[in-house]
Order: sequence, then structure tokens, then C-alpha cells
Amino acid sequence: MFTRALVALLLPLAWAWARRHERAILQSGKPLREGELVDARRAGVQHPERVRVLVLPSVPPRLPRALRELAERCAWGPATVTGMALGYGIFVRAEQRGSRRLLIHELAHVAQYERLGVRPFLKLYLHQCLTSGYPHGLLEAEAKQIARDLLAPNTG
Ligand SMILES: [Zn+2]
Repeated sequence: MFTRALVALLLPLAWAWARRHERAILQSGKPLREGELVDARRAGVQHPERVRVLVLPSVPPRLPRALRELAERCAWGPATVTGMALGYGIFVRAEQRGSRRLLIHELAHVAQYERLGVRPFLKLYLHQCLTSGYPHGLLEAEAKQIARDLLAPNTG
């Protein structure tokens, strides 16, 4: 009950933050290359051509204070996060640039955004962070599974 109230309280803030950063990534990020477009489709993304990737020294950038406190509670923040999807925008931490596993994982989240809608995704994601801890929720589990499946030998 407390968790649901907390999610309801934080959702507008998280949504505004996500929208702002998605716009920034879409403006200055790079489109997917040919092989990455194939991975995106296989990860379930309906519109891979809309995806943009922005490499940063540290992810996520500039969290609002209330979200930072929440993030610390569920061990989600610059120390543990190497990539992040916000709608069609993907942040990648610089040292993970070129990691196919990470990109597929984030593309799986993009597919989840498409499937659920941005606001419902964030609501579910926040709830899973608060109840299971990062990165142990079901949305994370699905993204990890998709990356494992696509990277496994003898699949195609
Ligand atoms: Zn993830």
C-alpha cells in the first residue's frame, strides 16, 4: 500500500524527467547502425529507426532530489547503472560503448515502452524497483532474458 502511494507520488516527477531526457537523447544521439537495427527488431522493437543512442560519462545524469533518494533506496544510480532506456532514447555509459549485450538489453526496454506506453512502463518499473530492488524486477528479468537469447550461439 505504501509502495503504491509512493509510486503515485513520484510518477509525475519521473515521467517529466524521462520525457525531458528522452527529448535530449533524440536531439543529440546517434541512430542505430544496420546490425543494430536487426538486433532491435529481434528484441521486439516495432520502430527501430526512431531509436537514438547517446554515450555519456555517467548514467543517469542529474536526477531530481526526490528521485535520487528513491534510487538510493533500491540501489539504482550511477554506481550500478551502465545504460538506460527512456522511450526511444538510450543512454550508454562511455565504458560500455560498443557492448552489444548492453544495447540489446536497452532495446528490450524500448520494446517494453512501445508495448506498455511510457507512463505505464515507468509506473511498473518504479513499483518493481521498490518491491524487488534494482535490477531484480520482472521488466529487468525480461530484458536480460532477451539479451541472453539473442547472444546465445546457434539461434537465428
Ligand atoms: Zn534494464
